[in-house]
Amino acid sequence: MNLNPVIPQRKTLHKRLWNFVQPYTTFQIDQELEEQKFAYLDESCYNFPIDQDTTPALYQLCQSVKERLHVTDNVDFKIAGNMQLNGSCTPSASKEFPSIITVSISAVNTLTDDELAILIGHELGHVITKDWLVQFFFHKRFDDAERAPQFRWHQFHILELLSEMEADRYGYLACGSKLDTYISYQYKFRGGIDQQRFGVSTDTFLKANQRLMQKFMHGGWLGKQHPANALRIEAIRLFATCKTDRELETKMQPIIDSIENCDD
Ligand SMILES: [Zn+2]
Repeated sequence: MNLNPVIPQRKTLHKRLWNFVQPYTTFQIDQELEEQKFAYLDESCYNFPIDQDTTPALYQLCQSVKERLHVTDNVDFKIAGNMQLNGSCTPSASKEFPSIITVSISAVNTLTDDELAILIGHELGHVITKDWLVQFFFHKRFDDAERAPQFRWHQFHILELLSEMEADRYGYLACGSKLDTYISYQYKFRGGIDQQRFGVSTDTFLKANQRLMQKFMHGGWLGKQHPANALRIEAIRLFATCKTDRELETKMQPIIDSIENCDD
């Protein structure tokens, strides 16, 4: 049985910061997104559409992940022509397709179908939480002259980190809750190691991860927008192995504490 993927602390922060980034009106939101869409279109010559006619197998994969995660929003999927192994999710002013997800050409060529499902599931996690709306307007309002109080920046930073951790859970669900596949993906994606090719067991990776994690739990560098890989892997291991939501919340608490205590 899968546990609830929502991280309660993330949800609370989302609400607090969303109220804080107001008073943007609905009109202003549409206008800002429209501007962003134009900025995005400028780069579109580097992108390749994922649709039924051009890339049917990839399109089917994206749609099946959407169905598995019960995402009903229309999503505009694209392949980005960059050689880094990554994906992204951005809001769009389009009423028909309010979200754009891109996966890099390198990811498409390097990852297996299951691993691609994890990447797409992770990005769809951002569509589900919509934390990027808070992030987008927070930056819009506070990057320039107007400064938010320091504690709001701290909350904002924590939201970014927890948002990635919750999106990871949707990635895990997207591959059919296979922990081995997920761990293999994380190491290939973040560290460049191909587990199958080099014959390293998941158990070995997890033990190495436990040692790394202790460093991060005691003041290690956390990462500005993306949590340290060791913490992400441990958070997924807990999500996959805990029996109840309460057990998960209890065991996640030290990880959340380390994030809340991080320096911005
Ligand atoms: Zn992400």
